[in-house]
Amino acid sequence: MTIFTKIINHEIAANRVYEDDFTLAFHDIDPQAPIHILVIPKKEIADLQSCDGETVSYLLNAVQLVAKKMKLDEAGYRVVINNGRDAGQEVEHLHFHILGGTKLGHIHHQDRTKSAT
Ligand code: 5GP
Repeated sequence: MTIFTKIINHEIAANRVYEDDFTLAFHDIDPQAPIHILVIPKKEIADLQSCDGETVSYLLNAVQLVAKKMKLDEAGYRVVINNGRDAGQEVEHLHFHILGGTKLGHIHHQDRTKSAT
């Protein structure tokens, strides 16, 4: 059982912001931005590669709802999936990070320069 399933089952406390039959959203315990929320499927799905398209769409719908609820929808926010070992995925239960509440540093500039050469 993953740590996130324990959160779903209320075995571990979390600061929940949204819940429906398929998804749960809660504040990250170690926020990397003023607002840092994780959106997860209630079903234990290890990563994006093992997730069907319908579930992805439920999760993205939940991301939209959470962003609106947290008033991030106008100013913007970032959605991150650390998928697999090379991406540094720590919890093997698919999760979308929602980061916002401030102007976030751009993550592409350096990579773009490198790939152009
Ligand atoms: P990953 O590195 O797998 O993409 O992200 C895992 C995230 O889960 C991390 O940002 C970490 O802070 C968060 N996290 C790990 N354990 C807990 C927990 O018990 N409660 C909450 N709310 N977040 C957790």
